[in-house]
Amino acid sequence: QPSIEVTAVSKRYRAVVAVDRLSFAVRPGEVTGFVGPNGAGKSTTMRVIVGLDTPDEGQALVNGVPYRSLRRPLTQVGVLLDASAVHPGRSARDHLLWLAHSNRLGRRRVDEVLELAGLAAAARRRAGGFSLGMRQRLGIAAALLGDPAVLVLDEPVNGLDPEGIVWIRGLLRSLAAEGRVVLVSSHLMSELEDTADHLLVVGRGRLLADVGVAELIERA
Ligand code: ADP
Ligand code: ADP
Repeated sequence: QPSIEVTAVSKRYRAVVAVDRLSFAVRPGEVTGFVGPNGAGKSTTMRVIVGLDTPDEGQALVNGVPYRSLRRPLTQVGVLLDASAVHPGRSARDHLLWLAHSNRLGRRRVDEVLELAGLAAAARRRAGGFSLGMRQRLGIAAALLGDPAVLVLDEPVNGLDPEGIVWIRGLLRSLAAEGRVVLVSSHLMSELEDTADHLLVVGRGRLLADVGVAELIERA
């Protein structure tokens, strides 16, 4: 079973406590929304999960091991962070071909994810000319390239137009329905309330709520 488990993770940057003894587990087969205001610690937590930041305390495990111990990580975890870098001079397709090649993935998958991301028509345009919404689509295509069972997506809705928002909702729903672990952050509850099955609410680095959306609605 794919999984993400965060156990008592703390991370500070000098005087700033970005993440404060955060613990949660993300279940497969659900969209889990990671919600809180800007600065709440969502990105830091996600960077810790994918091994880009080292926690001061605690640990994060993906599929039972630290991210850095995963073999062929791209095939196990798809990651979208807002720092996700794309060479501006490269076409979308060349970017994905380069990623596929360096991770020993087949070329055929590149055209599949371009299609999934709605970028087939723009595949040969240089990424440097892309709108923010198209760059998000390209980042999501890259995250899906290795067909991973775990997805960690930081603010994937940012920059998407209304059509893109409908698209990402359907995509997240179907990825979860396939039994994947889908962790998606947003600073807006409204972005995820119709999409997420489960919410992890954070504020000032702390977990404020860990609740099923159905349960939340019943209580309201
Ligand atoms: P969120 O993703 O919820 O907006 P972040 O994890 O980006 O929150 O940030 C949490 C806090 O940690 C903020 O106060 C932010 O300014 C700070 N922070 C994040 N990354 C760094 C960093 N590399 N250096 C210093 N402070 C940072
Ligand atoms: P988010 O979109 O989640 O709010 P941020 O804008 O906080 O993300 O962070 C974007 C990048 O800037 C991250 O790589 C983070 O580490 C870095 N960063 C954030 N806050 C600070 C800070 N106060 N000092 C230095 N780097 C920071």
